[in-house]
Amino acid sequence: MKTVNIAIDGPAGAGKSTIAKMVSAEMGYIYVDTGAMYRAVALYLTENNIPDEDIEKYIGGVDVSLKFIDGVQRVYLGDRDVSELIRTPEISMAASRTSAIPAVRARLFDLQQKLARENNIIMDGRDIGTVVLPNADVKIFLTASAEERANRRYKELSEKPDCPPYEEILKDIIQRDYNDMNRETAPLKQAEDAVLVDTTELTLEQSAARITEIIKERI
Ligand code: C5P
Repeated sequence: MKTVNIAIDGPAGAGKSTIAKMVSAEMGYIYVDTGAMYRAVALYLTENNIPDEDIEKYIGGVDVSLKFIDGVQRVYLGDRDVSELIRTPEISMAASRTSAIPAVRARLFDLQQKLARENNIIMDGRDIGTVVLPNADVKIFLTASAEERANRRYKELSEKPDCPPYEEILKDIIQRDYNDMNRETAPLKQAEDAVLVDTTELTLEQSAARITEIIKERI
């Protein structure tokens, strides 16, 4: 049976994962966060002190998998659940750097396509509509200004003890945008047939409603 595949791409902090979670819960689809896979690989490489020039040699031994518990994605390295450990600024930056390496992308590509073949999914990332699922039923490119994305991230982190200053968060976002858009393999860009949604002026609820509307119009 053909599965329904929805691709959501866009820069860091555009709200992809929060919105995709809301929409997938409403539609009864599985939400796949591909960024978590890149983060898990980055955690492995960091923990094992593998320098970038040796990644190709070791990438075959990195065992990343996803489990869905009550519809919620957990990411594993071997049998270790690393879903929380991957959410640090250091791992964000390491993932942004190591995801540019073709061997890293090749390793995760098959896993992502298999998930899409077997399930109705909403998959988010940077290259889902352009490279991983070029035939997705619906493609959305979700964006917002860098300042608004940094602002949202700052608000989220300000409840935690070691919240970085706003300027640092903005600098990281601009750096990650640059890395993602300028790498040679699978750079971040809007697919020709993707619908652009700019959430700078929208609340989460408004953004989710807009995306649900776009999906329902097309499937
Ligand atoms: O989405 P998230 O910020 O968690 O992703 C972490 C990093 O993984 C991104 O900065 C990006 O470099 C990389 N990534 C990617 N392709 C994807 C998803 C994420 O290169 N499909």
